[in-house]
Amino acid sequence: MEQERINYFKKLLEQERQEVLTAAIETINELNATEENLPDITDMASAETDRSFQLRIRDRERKLLNKIDKALLRIKEGTYGICEDCGDDIEEKRLQARPVTTLCIKCKAKQETEEKAKGL
Ligand SMILES: [Zn+2]
Repeated sequence: MEQERINYFKKLLEQERQEVLTAAIETINELNATEENLPDITDMASAETDRSFQLRIRDRERKLLNKIDKALLRIKEGTYGICEDCGDDIEEKRLQARPVTTLCIKCKAKQETEEKAKGL
């Protein structure tokens, strides 16, 4: 991939990373605020539901951050945009839609088929 394109995706990833981090910090702040204000059992029950919801979001955010960091590392190592499975270039359209992807469309489809087969 051309250096210019690499720089473009690097910026895209750094921007996404910042957005996820900001959202994660907001979630943590909300969580702390919830813990401080628990007036009675009824409110606690609904607060509990909210909390598990927020924890799920945080887990998703954590996983996404991990993927973004790995993508940035691949940029640094010069392997960004190369399929981890077959070694072909990943389609730019695919990277555009999902900059953290590590597989080309063919290998991704293969992986999904295999995962479905395991699930049965
Ligand atoms: Zn591939």
